[in-house]
Amino acid sequence: MSDTTDQADFDICARLERVRARIRLACEQAGREPDSVRLLAVSKTKPVSAVKAALACGQTAFGESYLQDARQKLAAHWPDGLEWHFIGPIQSNKTREIAAAFDWAHAIDREKIARRLNDQRPAGYAPLNVCLQVNISAEASKSGLRPDDLPGVALRVAEMPRLRLRGLMCIPGRTTVRAEQAMPFARMRALRDRLADEEGIALDTLSMGMSGDLEAAIAEGATMVRVGTDIFGPRVS
Ligand SMILES: *Cc1c(COP(=O)(O)O)cnc(C)c1O
Repeated sequence: MSDTTDQADFDICARLERVRARIRLACEQAGREPDSVRLLAVSKTKPVSAVKAALACGQTAFGESYLQDARQKLAAHWPDGLEWHFIGPIQSNKTREIAAAFDWAHAIDREKIARRLNDQRPAGYAPLNVCLQVNISAEASKSGLRPDDLPGVALRVAEMPRLRLRGLMCIPGRTTVRAEQAMPFARMRALRDRLADEEGIALDTLSMGMSGDLEAAIAEGATMVRVGTDIFGPRVS
């Protein structure tokens, strides 16, 4: 291993610690238990060595967005207990591979995609954990279910035996203004609560918050934050 790799690995560990400290502080300020928020390390576009560096610092859940890029990483040798989350948009022709290679899929925004993942989840595997993506700031993002369509889709996905509906996910429009960050996250929490009250669908996951807005997301009830840049450094694409 070269000196530069050692330095890069050291940086990842230090950055991971800083993100963990931010999560702890945000939980404290929100009156929440620190272990009520899970950290998903978004390793998309980053090499196997970056994932290994994070793993060496105790990180076990990783998020990938591009199947092409994830393929070689998943094929590397990994210890048991690693969790792979597919957080990118899912096209129909990718469902078979995702159903076989991942533990979670976060960005399901069509019933048809859920149906395919259900039908293609290999026998003998635990059900695939899934989140429904909600288009929570309609002006900023084209993907995600409309809030009005959510209850119907959630009811049908909850019935799919090879999927386990865990929660809701969103990618709000970017802003650095804290009050503006909070609004879409608060709407997500309200949608989750309404699914429980009106449809009897209890969800344990709100997948929301990224490098720039994880504090606001935690204040509004996020249970899983997806952090890339602040752990692995900027992405070159
Ligand atoms: C890339 C990505 C992230 C991480 O974003 P950062 O700003 O780098 O922390 C989180 N969620 C999704 C869906 C992503 O595609």
